[in-house]
Amino acid sequence: MSMVNVGRPTRPEQSLDLGPSPGAGRGLQQYEPLIFELGGWGKTGVDFEGVEGDLDAVDLDGLTRGAQPALPGLSEPETLRHYVRLSQKNHAIDLALYPLGSCTMKHNPRLDEKLARLPGFADVHPLQPQSTVQGALALMETLSHWLETLTGLPAVALSPKAGAHGELCGLLAIRGAHDARGEARRTVLVPTSAHGTNPASAAQVGYQVREIAQTADGRVDLADLAAQLGPDVAAVMVTNPNTCGLFERDVVEIARLTHAAGAYFYCDGANFNAIVGRVRPADLGVDAMHINLHKTFSTPHGGGGPGAGPVVLSAALAPYAPTPWLIREGDTLRLEEGAVGPAAATQGRVSAFHGQMGMYVRALAYMMSHGADGLRQVAEDAVLNANYVKARLSAAMSPAFPEGPCMHEALFDDTWLDGTGITTLDFAKAMIDEGFHPMTMYFPLVVHGAMLIEPTETESRLELDRFCDTLLGLAAAARAGEVERFRGAPFHAPLRRLDETLAARKPKLRWTPTAR
Ligand SMILES: *Cc1c(COP(=O)(O)O)cnc(C)c1O
Repeated sequence: MSMVNVGRPTRPEQSLDLGPSPGAGRGLQQYEPLIFELGGWGKTGVDFEGVEGDLDAVDLDGLTRGAQPALPGLSEPETLRHYVRLSQKNHAIDLALYPLGSCTMKHNPRLDEKLARLPGFADVHPLQPQSTVQGALALMETLSHWLETLTGLPAVALSPKAGAHGELCGLLAIRGAHDARGEARRTVLVPTSAHGTNPASAAQVGYQVREIAQTADGRVDLADLAAQLGPDVAAVMVTNPNTCGLFERDVVEIARLTHAAGAYFYCDGANFNAIVGRVRPADLGVDAMHINLHKTFSTPHGGGGPGAGPVVLSAALAPYAPTPWLIREGDTLRLEEGAVGPAAATQGRVSAFHGQMGMYVRALAYMMSHGADGLRQVAEDAVLNANYVKARLSAAMSPAFPEGPCMHEALFDDTWLDGTGITTLDFAKAMIDEGFHPMTMYFPLVVHGAMLIEPTETESRLELDRFCDTLLGLAAAARAGEVERFRGAPFHAPLRRLDETLAARKPKLRWTPTAR
């Protein structure tokens, strides 16, 4: 969402050092107002029979329009250009490296796209009789089997539509299981480094959230966890590898302590891509975990399309899974739509129909084309690439946790910028001028001025070197005192630096027509 109030072709502010631009764009990047601001009524890309010239002069049997309708009027080439220009404003993984830590922006294989477009999958209607969509249901069954095998957990609910949605469903199942035993546990423990969705989901389910302290080396503080566990704790939510890009090496002990206190161990599986094929979360003691299909098993996300966040569950939690349930009866598959038994009192249906069919096809295609060994290599290469970036950038930037290797993402803090007068935000904006999308900034919150880089396994050595060379060059410029290059950045983006806080807090959601 852009917060910039785009007036009628006013030229965006240009930096003095670039000199004035007579047009509205810069470097073949076109400035583009809203479609309503572009077009004038009276123009159209099609011919209407019987209408010559002025559209307003059409004889409507004496009826006359008091004011022009607030609709854009554009010719075909103008319309086309408008949308192509808009599409170019969206950074995409198909365009360049997209190093957003935690988001796992990696290449989406074209094979998966091709399969998702097969008419038998793409054109099924969710209200078709189930007897006519047995193939689609079989695909969901196979996908479930893969997810269960890779995690070691016996049940999966496919329908949650995002990681956060999976968290909600997993926690609702946990609440259902406690409620069934008549245990009114009302607290969820979450590490300080957790993704914001963790405490948000727990609060949504009605839990109080308490933070677990972090050790100096970026892991869960076991002593603090043990001290906080008690008869009021319903669940412990831990991300592994955690949001600092580090493996929770005490994860088995975390699970043991959690279970000993009568609580469930919820794992945020957003970083499963770092361990898939190497570790089964069930073997670590995990009771419930969501899997962001759009992160670990590819599939476009963010501006590229919807996600999907299936949640895998232990046998104890499975009866509380959201509907629909996929049930095999001999050769036939059926979706049980209505919640029965313990599930009925817990959550029932959490999304329309069965979830994101297109994502299921892409994710299964990704799994089957990689195979078990290929998925394992995905995790290994993702970790290798992140460590390569960590090693190269540590020459100039300060790793948040210098000790030992990282997992799939390299985390830096801003101590290396001390005394330069340049902030993490300035540095990230300067990356845009050099042709790189910034990394995740200021997350996790526990690291000051955090810069979280996730290269993923799909970047080549050549591309990683280009990225590292650029960042090292910028770091040298920062050290050399080239402050304006950073504070004024980005200089090459058409609208320069935007006020992102204002955009998030006060988004302009309404367009007000100006009188014509
Ligand atoms: C992405 C992410 C989530 C939320 O997943 P969505 O699919 O965006 O809802 C939760 N936790 C972590 C660690 C994440 O990276």
